[in-house]
Amino acid sequence: MKYVDSMEKSAEFLRQALPLMSRQAAALHPVSYAVWYEYVAGINPPLKASIDGRTKNGAVLDEQATLELFHKHIADIDEDVSRRVSEGFQKALADISRSASQAGDHASEYGRVLEKWSADLAHSTPGAGLGGAVDLLLRHTRNMQESTAALKANLDESRREIEQLRQEVRKARQDALADGLTGLMNRRGFDSVLAACVSACDAERAPSLLIADIDFFKRINDSYGHLFGDKVILGIAQILKDNVKGKDIAARYGGEEFVILLPETPLEGAQHLAEKIRSEVERCRIKRAHHNAAVGNITISVGVASYRNGESAHDFLGRADSALYLSKNQGRNRVTVAGMPLNA
Ligand code: GH3
Ligand code: MG
Ligand code: MG
Repeated sequence: MKYVDSMEKSAEFLRQALPLMSRQAAALHPVSYAVWYEYVAGINPPLKASIDGRTKNGAVLDEQATLELFHKHIADIDEDVSRRVSEGFQKALADISRSASQAGDHASEYGRVLEKWSADLAHSTPGAGLGGAVDLLLRHTRNMQESTAALKANLDESRREIEQLRQEVRKARQDALADGLTGLMNRRGFDSVLAACVSACDAERAPSLLIADIDFFKRINDSYGHLFGDKVILGIAQILKDNVKGKDIAARYGGEEFVILLPETPLEGAQHLAEKIRSEVERCRIKRAHHNAAVGNITISVGVASYRNGESAHDFLGRADSALYLSKNQGRNRVTVAGMPLNA
């Protein structure tokens, strides 16, 4: 997950983001910072590509463009959360600024007292009338200590609040990328992972992709009801979860369509996995509520493709999808590999 950078790393990103951010026409608010933080951290390739495109030839991002980028590539979190986070940051910053300025006022006052005391000292006869001045100095020193302690407490509190907000953003972000029914990654999350995988691809690591679609799912819904249909989706999602490991990522790509990205698995391994999943689904039985007999005959069709150097994520997905389409046309409940003869 994003935003797990250490204090040092995030400070470095802050140093890099500030000059970039201040070159734009948008104000330096938390939305701008989120956009430029992700840009310099290199954790959001679609965002980066979009910014690079928009700032070509010296163009700058205005408020509107910054907000658009934020909504498209970062925020898809609900409005309430964004508002709360934004207000939270503003409050925390205002608190820090208020107590820093109070501490500053006290420090200047303290400076003035010291100066006065020093002047009085210069003009006084040794030992005469110093008691009052020492009392005054002590009082101001105490004031100074109190306001420094208050500033520290305030900073600690603000730090805690900001950490809490960060957690909230992280959680909202996770939710925005997860499918509500199955807990798998959703399409939006998967698209971004696939784009990152494709852009980091080199000749030695060829990722593979599986697309699976439940066969005659409409019929399942019609025969047993929508709730049972959801149970089937959950059952298949579980089979997928059980079959992915390491860097592999499974996602629910649409209603009854699933994808698996295998970043470091060549075609043969991917085909083997697809076949394993297909046969596990074929063998599974899903129990209906208040019925003794479980429902079988649930099957999926699968398309598999291995990445061809230089192709876009869209084309990669398109080839896997065409293979899935062939599986459907050839009678369903089968695996078809893109660009290879059909397997029975
Ligand atoms: P095919 O073998 O060609 O894939 O046939 P199909 O019936 O599976 O395909 P079709 O696209 O005609 O139907 C898909 C159905 O999936 C229609 C839609 O109502 C259902 N569906 C989509 N999302 C959900 C969901 O979240 N829950 C349930 N229960 N059904 C869903
Ligand atoms: Mg479908
Ligand atoms: Mg279907």
